[in-house]
Amino acid sequence: MRAAGRVVAEMHEAIRQAVRPGVTTLDLDAVAREVLRRRQAASNFLGHRGFSGVICASVNDEVIHGIPSERVLDEGDLLSIDCGAIVHGWHGDAAFSMLVGSGSAAAQLLIDTADRALAAGIAAMVPGGHLGDIGAAIDAVVSLAGYGSPHDYCGHGIGQAMHEEPDVENRGRHGKGPLLESGVVLAVEPMLIASGDDDVYELSDGWTIVTADGSLAAHAEHTILVGPHGPEILTRA
Ligand code: MG
Ligand code: MG
Repeated sequence: MRAAGRVVAEMHEAIRQAVRPGVTTLDLDAVAREVLRRRQAASNFLGHRGFSGVICASVNDEVIHGIPSERVLDEGDLLSIDCGAIVHGWHGDAAFSMLVGSGSAAAQLLIDTADRALAAGIAAMVPGGHLGDIGAAIDAVVSLAGYGSPHDYCGHGIGQAMHEEPDVENRGRHGKGPLLESGVVLAVEPMLIASGDDDVYELSDGWTIVTADGSLAAHAEHTILVGPHGPEILTRA
């Protein structure tokens, strides 16, 4: 899983460097495909329930699951990229959000808060902790900042499949849920909505999840191992 995680980190880095006004989300999908090809890794996104890309690219009010397309990115767009890789049958899955060129301070704060929420969730991934600690830590950051978070989408176990038990909710209660034991690997992924509203819906394309009120959304995700002494982020370069 470390090998798969390194490929995902490399996809993220290559995409970050390719993002600029004027590129399409399909261009970014091609950048990610090139990394997979070079590293002889397979995509766990492509063909997943018929999905057409190796990345999800979600722009502005799109929260998650945006389909790579001819959509041209504009200066100031808030872009969320989610992608994964399979190496020797083991999966990695991670997401990040960024501004295209320069954008509003409010959008950057939303992105930074998504990163902070993810970091807080990761910090709770210690042996002897509980699954509920992760969601509680994430929700504390998100709620304090006044942002919303969809109720029906969350993180997950990951290993020889991209999505395994258990669900890793972005809300939770300290000390509740299964015990976190050394060797457990989870994908943790806060999704933030700028307005504070939690409501989202799916577009008619059957994939893209957008905020109900049209406000901006940000997404951050890592695949993380609960190590014997604490969390190890597998999808970080
Ligand atoms: Mg993901
Ligand atoms: Mg995931």
